Amino acid sequence: MVGLVDCNNFFVSCERSRNPALEGRAVVVLSNNDGCVVARSNEAKRAGILMGQPAFQIKDRINTGEIIALSGNHLLYREISNRIHSIFRSYAPKTLDYSVDEAFLLMDGVPHSCLKEIGEEIYRRCWNEMHIPVTVGFAPSKTLAKIVTESCKKARRPVGVLNDAGKAREVMSRMPIADLWGIGRRLSKRLYAMGVFSIADFADRELSWVRSEFGVNGERSWRELHGEDCIDLSHVEHELQDSVSESRTFPEDVSDYDWIRARIAIYAADCSRKLRAMKGECGLVGVMLQTNRFHLERGNARPEGVVQLASHTSDTVEICSAAISVFDRIFIPGILFKRAGVWLSEIVPRISETPSLFESENSIRHKASRRFLMNAVDNINIGPGTPVIKLASQITQGHPGHNDGYSSTFQYPKN
Ligand SMILES: [Mg+2]
Repeated sequence: MVGLVDCNNFFVSCERSRNPALEGRAVVVLSNNDGCVVARSNEAKRAGILMGQPAFQIKDRINTGEIIALSGNHLLYREISNRIHSIFRSYAPKTLDYSVDEAFLLMDGVPHSCLKEIGEEIYRRCWNEMHIPVTVGFAPSKTLAKIVTESCKKARRPVGVLNDAGKAREVMSRMPIADLWGIGRRLSKRLYAMGVFSIADFADRELSWVRSEFGVNGERSWRELHGEDCIDLSHVEHELQDSVSESRTFPEDVSDYDWIRARIAIYAADCSRKLRAMKGECGLVGVMLQTNRFHLERGNARPEGVVQLASHTSDTVEICSAAISVFDRIFIPGILFKRAGVWLSEIVPRISETPSLFESENSIRHKASRRFLMNAVDNINIGPGTPVIKLASQITQGHPGHNDGYSSTFQYPKN
């Protein structure tokens, strides 16, 4: 059996562990520059606050005290994460840290009859010692462990053990296919068109159909739903960072759209490279700009935005275009900017050689060749200094005086 322990609303729970007065209130944690919401308590979710929502949109509700907004304290989250993972480790023969607030417990050799008690003990210790609420689910495969944990969280039950096929099918029939591990919103649309709406709809299909439509990764996921543990996370040997970021102060203030846009692409490409080096994928891309303080009267001093990706990725092209879409949204023409940055978060280990589980053979081949391409680019760009191979969006003409010491000074041919 495999267990999954997941901390509930982790960042908010960390804040509450230090300040019990936040209990029961609608609390949100903001991104690094207080620009947008990156974590929400259940009360804040119920109050209609969206993930990534810009803070200025809820300013009035913050001012009236309806919503409590906190600046993120990532040192605290990291410290609590380390301590909570060491609690997890003391209850399983082997654990795999999946993210800051999630770990798989490999329960080989542990009698099934003890699992519920072990789950309850983990819950009790995390609550008593750390004041962090967790949900623990046990099942025959990692995918089913994710499913049982998710359904327990919805039912506000701290522990669940899923060990018979009938019960598994019932839980799967209540869950939309978009909630299946490795399925993005984008891919779920394709499955809807095929009449697959719930996870059970997918598990009910013939394996041969799954294999022909979704290839080996689809097959693997199908087998996981039927209780076979086959998603390999053995390459996850070290703890992943919670986020990866790149930012720079410009040597002089700049208002030029193209020049700053190229900086965003450069930082995004570098973050993606770091992400691949740690064998991770991210789910969230953020961009921040900082204006010259003498331009404060012209608007927000630190425009910032995030975008939730349709599925986890480490692909430079996908991450760059996401970062640029955020940049386009927050850029203010005519304002002098002095700093910009990109960050990637919701980092998890890559679960397969192909980025997403449910793609056509064609797109798997495309993604596999993209991964091969990214690998080749990383190998050529190895070492410090200016990367040899870049995306076109990382290149700008002119403004040599604005070199931030980060990009190359040599001239690229036009087009
Ligand atoms: Mg969590």
